[in-house]
Amino acid sequence: MPATVILKASSIITMDPSNPRAEAIAIDESTGKIVAVGSVAECQAAGPGVALTDLGATVLMPGFIEAHSHPMLGGMITQPPSYWIAPYLGYPNLSDVQALWTKVNAELPPDQPVVFEGLDRLLQQAPLQTNSDLDKFFPTRRAVVLDNSGHVAYFNSAVIAFNKWAEGKPPADPPGARFGRNADGTSNGIAYETAAQLEAVMPTVKDAVPRPLESAARWLQYMSGFGITATSEMTYSTNLLKGYEALTTRPNSPVRMSLYHMAIDSDAGVQVVSPDPSMLRKQGVKLWADGSPWVGSIASSFPYLDTPAVQAAEIPLGPGGTNMMNYTRVELDSLLAKFAPLGWQMAFHVNGDVGLDIVLDAYEEALTNNNLMGTDHRWRVEHCGGCRGDQFQRAVAMGVTISLGPFQFIYWGDLLDGTMFPPEIGSQWMRWGDAVRAGAHLSFHNDGPVSPPIPLLNIQTAITRATDSGQVHGANQIISLEDALKAETTGAAYMLHRENEIGSLAVGLYADLVELSMDPYLAEPTTLATEVKVQATWLSGRKVDLDSFLTQIQEVEAAATHPVDHHTVMSSHTC
Ligand SMILES: [Zn+2]
Ligand SMILES: [Zn+2]
Repeated sequence: MPATVILKASSIITMDPSNPRAEAIAIDESTGKIVAVGSVAECQAAGPGVALTDLGATVLMPGFIEAHSHPMLGGMITQPPSYWIAPYLGYPNLSDVQALWTKVNAELPPDQPVVFEGLDRLLQQAPLQTNSDLDKFFPTRRAVVLDNSGHVAYFNSAVIAFNKWAEGKPPADPPGARFGRNADGTSNGIAYETAAQLEAVMPTVKDAVPRPLESAARWLQYMSGFGITATSEMTYSTNLLKGYEALTTRPNSPVRMSLYHMAIDSDAGVQVVSPDPSMLRKQGVKLWADGSPWVGSIASSFPYLDTPAVQAAEIPLGPGGTNMMNYTRVELDSLLAKFAPLGWQMAFHVNGDVGLDIVLDAYEEALTNNNLMGTDHRWRVEHCGGCRGDQFQRAVAMGVTISLGPFQFIYWGDLLDGTMFPPEIGSQWMRWGDAVRAGAHLSFHNDGPVSPPIPLLNIQTAITRATDSGQVHGANQIISLEDALKAETTGAAYMLHRENEIGSLAVGLYADLVELSMDPYLAEPTTLATEVKVQATWLSGRKVDLDSFLTQIQEVEAAATHPVDHHTVMSSHTC
């Protein structure tokens, strides 16, 4: 298979330790794979007569891999026509959000409903919003505001009226969820936890976001713009399959997809047959072992500090301990006994140290019972914000892979260290240094709609331990640039069982590339993410055309007989 394209760059960072730097790469477009990577002469020998495309000052790397995302949800609630109002998207204070509300209400057609994602009680110090609060900004149109934690939804009086709740009173609280009520029993415009949120806001979300597949495509465009060429869907359900097939089979599909089925689905163990497993395949099963540090639902051995910010966010001081586990050990054991024999890779969300102990205990027993210990299972743990290095050592010894979320540190780090937790806990939040020292197969993630998917910012943060304000916390957790790059390439590819396809640039792997404006090794570490610009991505040896991709998805959705189910997407509104 001779090369049909030869690219020359100012440098190529291959992430292949046997051949770390190259000046050219030769690609066979018929397979999308690399046929040579090395000197110009070596690449020209692999493609006699093929013209050399000189990319000038551009530096090439393997496309970045986001090991843990929620693209459908991310698209639906953060991309147009929805509005993303998270503090780090340009809305540091509630007043900034309110200014947007005023502007949007003035500009949109009068009856158009609207969805806002990301109001943050800790970072924006935003109190719970009642229907009366929202009515001041949206007196007539329906407006839904989703809390950044995923655990609360706010809605105005127009939504309450649209829901036709008798006398404005919400129905009985569903299991595990509740509606906010005034003293007279009427809705106060607040719904807590998924089941109540769905009942209160779904009809409005459906009307406000009429083209969810296009919204998902916009999320993939957004990821691609930050250099990502492969990701996962950690909240997969069977009736999202048609949507994901559409998103990954267009001529300009920009991102490969690995699916993790939600364990709560009765059919979570089924196989998924994909027309092209390199673009779309089911990889494993996901569950949430504990909750979120921003609402106090993590299974931790340590309490929160009793400070005004923690009180304002209504976080119980804890320690949460085993009370915050979403499953008992017996329940975890029975789920693992169901999925492990089917060969699925397990992926458990866990933030607290007590939670990780329980998860690793359960993993150890299930791996042993199923003769998987010592095999290539690569079971995963997700986030691990409050977990320790000795726990990572234990995970590594069991063959468990670790995906950390630098976003928790980037945006909440200044609060974590000294306001939410004492420095010995807070400064150490997200211990990637300990993970590397433990020899972990480490990946980083931005977790779908929780934070913008910016691999270069994760890398900058990993090598500086500086938050978005520039403050440094826990410098002992700083890692090298090489280790940080691995977490966004080879480490993530390994975690997704794709290291023989993607993550490095070597003969036989797919030519998935990111074009960078300069060599990250030459950037100032504290400003790397702004100095180094993503110029384009390539998938299977073709430069990605994001405009064409969006058009192709719009055509699919216009003709769709099985549109994406809003309800399924919103059911996973916990990351
Ligand atoms: Zn998630
Ligand atoms: Zn999660």
